[in-house]
Order: sequence, then structure tokens, then C-alpha cells
Amino acid sequence: MMKISKQEIEQHMERFEEVCRNSGMKLTHQRMEIFREVAQTGDHPDAEKVFQGVRQRMPTVSMDTVYRTLWLLKDLALITTLGSSRERTRFDANLKNHHHFVCVRCGLTRDFYSDEFNELKLPNSLKAFGRVETTQVKIKGVCLKCNAKGKKPS
Ligand SMILES: [Zn+2]
Ligand SMILES: [Zn+2]
Repeated sequence: MMKISKQEIEQHMERFEEVCRNSGMKLTHQRMEIFREVAQTGDHPDAEKVFQGVRQRMPTVSMDTVYRTLWLLKDLALITTLGSSRERTRFDANLKNHHHFVCVRCGLTRDFYSDEFNELKLPNSLKAFGRVETTQVKIKGVCLKCNAKGKKPS
């Protein structure tokens, strides 16, 4: 699990409460816990993982509620999603401009920051598609854990 500072989680929770107030969405305990789960793991969990985590604290929560809440949070721009439609959607509470390292074996996804990548010089050919808003770089590789596993004789 990635280390997310207490302060960072608090900032996320403040944003959550503010957006609830402004959007008129009812701030329920369940919704708060589901958001907190995405914010505090920093692991870009999919809906199933969020469900497993939240269920430890709220045994009555249903997968359906978790699923609907995640997409609601996404509609409110409290979290973002990643992954193509063929992969399982993962949820991300980090709204700062950041990039991802993705393990091609286990799907581990980590955030990293790079001013250089934020300001990448983009090819002119992109103009044919539309206007660029942000640049997000995805680095694919094999994580340390999978790499270590691969070295062991089987
Ligand atoms: Zn891996
Ligand atoms: Zn991320």
C-alpha cells in the first residue's frame, strides 16, 4: 500500500465535504467511507477492492452501493477513473497533475510527479484531433514484486 499522509487524506475529506455541500448531494456515512477508501489507499483500486476495504468497517454495505457511489463521485469530479473499457475501471482520488507507473503483470498502479512530463512538447499532429488540456504519461513495466517473483526458479 502506498503511503498517503494523514494531511493529504484530510485535504481529500475536506474537498469531499465541500463538494457535497455545493452539489446538494446528501453526505451519508457510506458515501464518506467509500470516498475515504479510494483516497487513503492511493492504490487506484477497482470497485471490488473498494468494496472489500469498506466492508471491513461497514459490513452491511453492498457491492451495488459501492459501485453506484463510485460513479456518483466520478460525476462530481471527486475522483477520476483510469483504464480502458476492456480493463476493470480503477478509481483515483489524486486530482493533482500526475503520471502513472503500471505493472503489466499485476496491474499495480503508482502515482509519480514530473514537471518535465507535465510540459512535454507534443507533436503538431495532435491538433487534428482537438485541443489538449492535460498530458498524462503512463509508464508500463514490471513492478519490483513481480520482478522478484519472475527470478525465482519455478
Ligand atoms: Zn506487479
Ligand atoms: Zn493516479
